[in-house]
Amino acid sequence: TSFFSSVKMGPADPILGLGLAFNADTDPKKVNLGVGVYRGDDGKPFVLESVKKAGGAYPHMEYAPISGPPGFVGKAQGLAFGENSTAIKQKRIASTQSLSGTGGLRVVSDFLARFLPSKKIYVPNPSWGNHLNIFKDSGLDVQRYSYFDASKNALNFEGILKDLNAAPKDSIVLLHACAHNPTGIDPTKEQWAEIINLVSTKQLFPFVDMAYQGFASGDLDRDAYALRSLTETVPNLALAQSFAKNFGLYGQRIGAAHFVCKDAEEADRVLSQVKILIRPMYSNPPIHGAHIVDTILSNPDLTKLWKSELKDMADRMNNIRGRLVQELAALGSTRDWSHITKQIGMMAFTGMSKAQVDRLKAEFHVYMTDDGRAAISGLNSQNVQYVAKAFHEVTK
Ligand code: PLP
Repeated sequence: TSFFSSVKMGPADPILGLGLAFNADTDPKKVNLGVGVYRGDDGKPFVLESVKKAGGAYPHMEYAPISGPPGFVGKAQGLAFGENSTAIKQKRIASTQSLSGTGGLRVVSDFLARFLPSKKIYVPNPSWGNHLNIFKDSGLDVQRYSYFDASKNALNFEGILKDLNAAPKDSIVLLHACAHNPTGIDPTKEQWAEIINLVSTKQLFPFVDMAYQGFASGDLDRDAYALRSLTETVPNLALAQSFAKNFGLYGQRIGAAHFVCKDAEEADRVLSQVKILIRPMYSNPPIHGAHIVDTILSNPDLTKLWKSELKDMADRMNNIRGRLVQELAALGSTRDWSHITKQIGMMAFTGMSKAQVDRLKAEFHVYMTDDGRAAISGLNSQNVQYVAKAFHEVTK
């Protein structure tokens, strides 16, 4: 007998489990469009030059403060809210380093569950799968709002307004800052203005997830538009910020969580409680990723190099989307694939069914999630023709 005999086998994570199945596949033609990790055109993991240059010399191995090194935290704020942000100048943003985007989401949702009047959180349908796990584990009450119109492969803007309008006052609303995952479709500036106005007048609490700043358009400020516009409009918001994708620092688990407060005194109170929440979880954050990000953002030459590398990554993904759609047309596909080039970021929401995704895996060794989401980052000039052929065969 064992103390663990009552522990039942749990299901593998749908995205990370897909990676395990991919690794076990011995076919040389296999293609991984499952996990959202950037690859170069050679299909290999990619370490940015700016990161290589910043990652070396390290001053010490001491503990960082609970909320991260102040230098790093300040840089993270500036990147998200803008160097000239009034909220930063007024010192009314409480910020902490976090264990990448996921850890930031978890710290924020634990904080909101502890202190906000309403436990209801409205999450777009669809959304990144892990959002639901995180919010449920924090004790929030997960509700959904419409986001996507599958019949048109487009944003369901009317649905967003209708559902948020029906949400009770004080509810939390999860918003993807840019490059919505999995659909790759963001509201336009005009649509954001209406959404932000609604959030403000209905007195909802915006919780922004920014996992792809700079990765959507190649421009950091453009991708932060919705966040900055919200910050100017509403009294409070929370932000989970990830540096996994835009710095290619996936395994370093580096990100930040921010709380925009009424004034500096409130920000101090909020930060004190954030630290009380983090201390019993992991005490202090890891130092290496924070050092890399801080070094790059403190050195103008490295910042310039990093921004150009970020633009190259965003451009490569946009180009390969175009290539995929071209190859499908060349193969004679009569299906409308134009949504793939309209979408942005790392994901293409292809519109394929689970049965088609199953066939892609079984017959062509092409791996993507059951909802028809393909991580564009896994495509390159060597495999795009093969993937197009596979897509065409299963959708004929
Ligand atoms: N939020 C969204 C929408 C994501 O797509 C991801 C990663 O895929 C994350 C957050 C968190 O990623 P990480 O924890 O690696 O920063």
